[in-house]
Amino acid sequence: MHKAYFFDMDGTLFDSMPHHAQAWEEVARRHGLTFTPQECYREEGRTGVDILAEIFRREQEKGHHTEIDNLGSEERQRHIRTVYQEKSDRFHQLGPVLPIEGAYEILLYLQSMSGTQIWIVTGSAQQTLFDQLSTAFPGIFTRDRMITALDVKHGKPSPEPYLTAWQRTRLPKSECCVVENAPLGVRSAKAAGLYTYVVNTGSMPEDIFVREGADCIVSDMAQLLQTIKHSNHTL
Ligand code: CA
Repeated sequence: MHKAYFFDMDGTLFDSMPHHAQAWEEVARRHGLTFTPQECYREEGRTGVDILAEIFRREQEKGHHTEIDNLGSEERQRHIRTVYQEKSDRFHQLGPVLPIEGAYEILLYLQSMSGTQIWIVTGSAQQTLFDQLSTAFPGIFTRDRMITALDVKHGKPSPEPYLTAWQRTRLPKSECCVVENAPLGVRSAKAAGLYTYVVNTGSMPEDIFVREGADCIVSDMAQLLQTIKHSNHTL
């Protein structure tokens, strides 16, 4: 029986990926870069800054000139942060995002199991989404049980975000588990040595998650709730 649940945020608790994809595509275009929604879903889980560094790297690989070509290392980082801020602003302009159906029910169920810790482990640094957590899921999350892009040096797919959460629980790894929706998130969780549920809320083929080592793949939150309840009762 798991005593700590590490929830990814975008695409797992919030139906935010369409807004992210649109914001990324628009801002990339504004800066002469290409970043399609498909690429956005593939890169999901990385921090915004890591995604941008990757977009610039790919353009350079294709032999395209970019805004950072002639910049020194520090200026590059500053430029990348500026572009990421633009993306965050655009995301914010697109309006509030809805919670994933059934997410609050599962959080309430876990909260009712005494001694269970509920965490957020996300590559996001979007303040608007953190604000929405308390609106969409009142009474569930506290800042001391949140690992965000601001708390780690290396974001997903590095194991660091999930390892950081695990270390703070003071529980054995066998009592912690992850709930993810993206291949790179699963890679991060499995590299951290944690049991990983996938809620396949997008349109990814299941075998991608199997290859990343996911332990249990479900199609929605209702199915995840049944699975968790079942495992709690059989133990
Ligand atoms: Ca996600």
